Amino acid sequence: MFSKQLIHYKSEILTKYQPQFQRLDAISEENTLKVLDAMRECRVSDAHFNTTTGYAYDDIGRGKLEELYAKVFGAERALVRTQFVSGTHALATVLFGILRPGDELVSLTGKPYDTMQTVIGYDNPSPGSLKEFGVLYNELPMVDGKVDMEHIKDVITLKTKMVEIQRSRGYSMRNPLTIDDIRAITDEVHRLKPDCVCFVDNCYGEFVDTVEPTQAGADIMAGSLIKNPGGGIAPTGGYIVGRDDLVELASYRLTAPGMGDELGASLSNNRLLFQGFFLAPHVTAQAIKGAIFAAALFDKLGYKTLPLPTAPRGDIIQAIELGSAEKLIAFCGGIQKYSPVDSFAAPEPWDMPGYADKIIMAAGTFVQGASIEFSADGPLRAPYNVYLQGGLTFEHAIIGILGAAQAIEELGK
Ligand SMILES: *Cc1c(COP(=O)(O)O)cnc(C)c1O
Repeated sequence: MFSKQLIHYKSEILTKYQPQFQRLDAISEENTLKVLDAMRECRVSDAHFNTTTGYAYDDIGRGKLEELYAKVFGAERALVRTQFVSGTHALATVLFGILRPGDELVSLTGKPYDTMQTVIGYDNPSPGSLKEFGVLYNELPMVDGKVDMEHIKDVITLKTKMVEIQRSRGYSMRNPLTIDDIRAITDEVHRLKPDCVCFVDNCYGEFVDTVEPTQAGADIMAGSLIKNPGGGIAPTGGYIVGRDDLVELASYRLTAPGMGDELGASLSNNRLLFQGFFLAPHVTAQAIKGAIFAAALFDKLGYKTLPLPTAPRGDIIQAIELGSAEKLIAFCGGIQKYSPVDSFAAPEPWDMPGYADKIIMAAGTFVQGASIEFSADGPLRAPYNVYLQGGLTFEHAIIGILGAAQAIEELGK
């Protein structure tokens, strides 16, 4: 049971933030139309849901799905495969597919996401990294949470083959990039060096806006199917979309040189990937409405939130500064209690490989680790931030967030 106070806050928030919620419904409608128009132009049909096995040459479903992704994202070509084990794998496939020894990669958004650091191998060395293959690397630190536009010219050199731009905040307390930010960055990079490849890590960014990075100057981008574009239905996988020649290079890394994108059995997954993509604009909007509700409720309860409830959104993540380990653990317990799977379990902090502090996670998802499903996590270190993301339905997010607030309220009793 939720306290009278929380129920009262809930109705206040649903009224007060109606303009924000309506804005998301409008984005979802526009993106749904974009997907439907593309599905008609591509003539998606029942025949594309058939199963293939083995080499799977001429898998018409796989080909159609890739045509659809390319169209929706305004790109020339796509790779959409369940053979990508995660978003990191899709992103690494772009890097290893395009970069050659002696080429330089520059991250324009400071230190990249944790798992990308081992791929690159400079901030966090790992066998098999780009560094071991002789790829050079540089970083432009962000200034006040923004890309340092004035100094891009200092880091783009003759050797710079590619820049990486991370759209989402990941697990940092900066703001995600907006589409306008991405356009300004790619314009500047292409002005300085027209053949420099602008690569966007689009994880958590798909369908948050009505324009995607590949429609705003990015040459290639990649992401995970168990985040936004899988719509909560895709069982696993990743995607790459962009310029024809660049996606082709990536395809030789995914399979083998000479083979590229012509092989790869879709098994029984095609329908799930089409259906998930169709649902993705709606599900993404549901998740962001949940994030706004969380920001509004915890703002009201006196906590610092990033973004603030009324701030524009560039990804689906909501950070809340809880201030103590006890509250962080209680918050995650409340989320877990109102999950559809493993709701009887109590999350506990644990030593996750690769992380300096203990991490606590609440996730009761249908697809393991799916962060488009409602979930929360945070490291046990000051200021005890919890990162909240996903939600297949707004209703579930509301209930889970009330559950988290209730669990914190009960600590004081
Ligand atoms: C999720 C994410 C990735 C990839 O992570 P996976 O867990 O491998 O899918 C990369 N970059 C950012 C910003 C992300 O949010």
